[in-house]
Amino acid sequence: MDVFYTPQQVCTVNSPSRSPEKPRLVMDELMSGSFAGDIRIHDDFPPFDNLEFLIAHKASYIDSFFAGELPNNADIEWSPEFAESVRYTNSSLYHAIKFATENENSLVLSPTSGFHHAGPSAGCGFCTFSGQVIASVKRWRETGAVGAYLDLDGHYGNSIGDSVGFCTNVNEAIAWNFNPGGYGESYVAEVRDAMIELETMVDAETVDYLVWCHGADSHEDDDLGDNVNTEQWLECSEIFYSLVKRKRDEGFNVPVVMALFGGYRADPPGLYENYRFVVNLHVQDLEIGMRILQG
Ligand SMILES: [Zn+2]
Repeated sequence: MDVFYTPQQVCTVNSPSRSPEKPRLVMDELMSGSFAGDIRIHDDFPPFDNLEFLIAHKASYIDSFFAGELPNNADIEWSPEFAESVRYTNSSLYHAIKFATENENSLVLSPTSGFHHAGPSAGCGFCTFSGQVIASVKRWRETGAVGAYLDLDGHYGNSIGDSVGFCTNVNEAIAWNFNPGGYGESYVAEVRDAMIELETMVDAETVDYLVWCHGADSHEDDDLGDNVNTEQWLECSEIFYSLVKRKRDEGFNVPVVMALFGGYRADPPGLYENYRFVVNLHVQDLEIGMRILQG
C-alpha cells in the first residue's frame, strides 16, 4: 500500500474534535501492525496553495478561512497550525489519486477527513474544503481520469453535489458518489446492491479509479452515528475489496484510493480509549484491503 502522509497534515492544537490528529493515530497503529512491511510512505508532496482551493471554492471563503474566520465550523477551533494542516490533507488526497491513475491496480491511502460537507462558499461541521472535488476535478483537467466515490461515512456527503453549478467539470470528473443509508442488514444490503452498479461501471471502463471512504461514524456506537455494528461495518469492507479483487483477477485495472472520513468518540480529558476504537476500525478496514488486494 502506498500512503501519502506527512506529519504536516496533522494538527493537535486546540481542537475539540480529534479528527485533525487522526492521520497520525492511524499511521502509528498501521506501522506497528503486521502489514507495516507492505506500506510505502510518500511524504514529499507540497501543500496546496489558494489556486487549488479555487477549483471548488469562492475566493472570499478561502481568504476568510485562512484569516481565521469559520462561521459554520462549530467542531473546529481555528489555529494557524490547523489551517496549514488543511493545505496538506487536501494535497494528500490529490496526490493519492494522482498516484492511483499512474499505477495500475494500486492501493493508495490518503489518511484524511474533513471534506465531504464543505460547499463552495462555506465549510460545515469538521469539514472545511471539498477535498474530493478539488482532487478529482484537478486530475480530470490534467488527464481526463474519472473517479467514483463510495462514501460510507455515517452522514450524507453533500460536497460533490453542492459543487455542481459552481465548479464546472464535477460531473465529468466524478461519475458516481454512492452514500448508503439505513440500518443494520438493510445498510449492508445497500452496499451489496451498489457493487452491482459498480461492476457495471468497471466492465464498461467508464471509471479510472475508485475512492473508498469508510467513515467510522457509520458505527452504531459512534457519538454521531447509528448505522451498523462492528461485524456489519467490517462486512462492508469485505464486500467492497472482494469485488475489486475479482475484477482485477478478470483483468481490469481497478486502482483504489482510501480515505478515512468521520469517526467521533469522546474520551475523558487525557485519555485515549474510546477514540482508539475509531482508529482501530479504520486500521481494520485498511488491513482487510491489504489482505484481499495484496495478500
Ligand atoms: Zn460523518
